[in-house]
Amino acid sequence: MRAAVLREYGGPLELTEIPDPVPGPGQVVVDIRACGVCGSDLFLQKGGFDSTIPIIPGHEAAGVVSSLGPGIDSVGIGQPVALYYIDYCGTCRICRSGRVNMCLGVRRMGVEFNGAFAERVVIPARSVIPVTEHDDPAAVAVLTDAVATPYHALVQRAAARPGETVVVFGIGGIGANAVQLAAYLGCRVIAVSRADASLELAVRMGAEVAIRTGPGISERVKEAAGPGGPDIIIQTVGSAEVFSQAVESAGIGCRVIAVGATLDPFPVNAMDLIWREAALSGSRGFTPLDIREVLDLHRGGAITTDHLVGNRRPLDQVNDALDDLRAGRVVRSVIDFGSGW
Ligand SMILES: [Zn+2]
Ligand SMILES: [Zn+2]
Repeated sequence: MRAAVLREYGGPLELTEIPDPVPGPGQVVVDIRACGVCGSDLFLQKGGFDSTIPIIPGHEAAGVVSSLGPGIDSVGIGQPVALYYIDYCGTCRICRSGRVNMCLGVRRMGVEFNGAFAERVVIPARSVIPVTEHDDPAAVAVLTDAVATPYHALVQRAAARPGETVVVFGIGGIGANAVQLAAYLGCRVIAVSRADASLELAVRMGAEVAIRTGPGISERVKEAAGPGGPDIIIQTVGSAEVFSQAVESAGIGCRVIAVGATLDPFPVNAMDLIWREAALSGSRGFTPLDIREVLDLHRGGAITTDHLVGNRRPLDQVNDALDDLRAGRVVRSVIDFGSGW
């Protein structure tokens, strides 16, 4: 099969032919129909994750089950599926509490095992989520990460409630969807970005206020939020400086949720937390439940993926898609393996 392989950090992916994967016990092979190109792929490419190389990246994908390992009866051949990129054990203390995204034995598709910048992947049967033939493969692919990640941050981590004020720092693939989900949840949304085009996107996604970042950003955010400041801050930018700005912007009782990945430390003034009883916490990916819920929201017309699926490229152009994302020309591209399921 054709696949795009990362052989060295900082280098381009190499397009090559490799043997088709074979499903072992508990596993299925999925023929990939669509895979989103995500900021995490850039983070992986530059060596941000503790991954094993060579590796085939690609973790937000949809496809069709094409072969079953021994003993699989939970899913059949020909079934369209969303891929949950986590291989979790289902039995450890953390899995039993429902937080399978942080399974003690977690392995990530496209990081620790080969991902979906390839015609086929082998994945545990418990990590595929059946969808219908009426769902669009590209939409399903981006829903599994670009939408499920901010959904997890807003719903599971921040417990967003109607009427609350949500600030989203960074309007990329994750941030734009944090905006539309927060608006759907009945929150008032303030978007912060350095790019005018992103701020326009945020307004289309339902932001009431769009603020161009710059000097004094924390004061401007608090002023826009009104008395008491914001209730929730979703920080999606992989920048230590922006993390400091986000904490400084916290309102009374604010939940500041870290989503954007950075390896750089940032200073936190304890009084920014104590004085406002603000909480700073992380949000790591999402669970299969989050995927099911955003699929339902999308089917019901509550949220859109139109802004995510417009840029489509064949697998052979995956490096161009990564370059587009790195340069900020797109919020997402989708690697397209042909139309339909
Ligand atoms: Zn991703
Ligand atoms: Zn586990």
